[in-house]
Amino acid sequence: MTNIDQRNKIIEYSLKLNSTNLSPLRSGNISLRSKEDDVEGYLITPSGKKYDTLKPEDIVFLGLNEEVEDKTSDNKPSSEWRFHRDIYLKKKEAKAIVHAHSPHATAVSSHGKPIPPFHYMIALAGGEDIKCADYATFGTEELSNNVIDALENRRACLMSNHGQVAFGKDLDDAFELAQELENICHQYTIALKLGNPKILSFEEMKKVLDKAKNYKKG
Ligand code: 13P
Ligand code: ZN
Repeated sequence: MTNIDQRNKIIEYSLKLNSTNLSPLRSGNISLRSKEDDVEGYLITPSGKKYDTLKPEDIVFLGLNEEVEDKTSDNKPSSEWRFHRDIYLKKKEAKAIVHAHSPHATAVSSHGKPIPPFHYMIALAGGEDIKCADYATFGTEELSNNVIDALENRRACLMSNHGQVAFGKDLDDAFELAQELENICHQYTIALKLGNPKILSFEEMKKVLDKAKNYKKG
């Protein structure tokens, strides 16, 4: 995919953040692993711009070794560039990242606890539960470190009192996982209203994790 195609893809999925209600207006952010002039890096949505105003030139390229100074500029990258960069550095398989303030994931994140296997689809994130990164101020190194901890052996996690983040082999894959996590959190919210849901055993989840490896086709 050319650089301009990648920029357009990011805009297409940013608009989807709005249209699918995963993140209203300008909250959340999206990135794609990329390369410019032989520099390994990623393309990321700009900070604080409404998704329905985005143009290809608004998408910002950052090198994997690049630090962003906190100064104002017209084209500032997302304030969350640190956890996007750190995920790309830590997870070679991560090619795209979606961060969203989706309503149910955000509500569940405010409890600051992992989601236990009340449903076998928890396995989609890569393990027998879905972790919740400890709270830290948005855009900080501390938040990035907490996200990296919560993503150990996982492809998605909640972020306490904030939202969720998911990565994948491409943007479609990462976005679908963010949608699945929102759906799981919606179901979990309903289950909690009914009392304490039955939790699947570690052994059962191991079986599901083995089976799930061959599930997603096409
Ligand atoms: P940005 O607009 O800087 O990407 O911030 C949105 C957000 O979700 C911060 O966590
Ligand atoms: Zn956010």
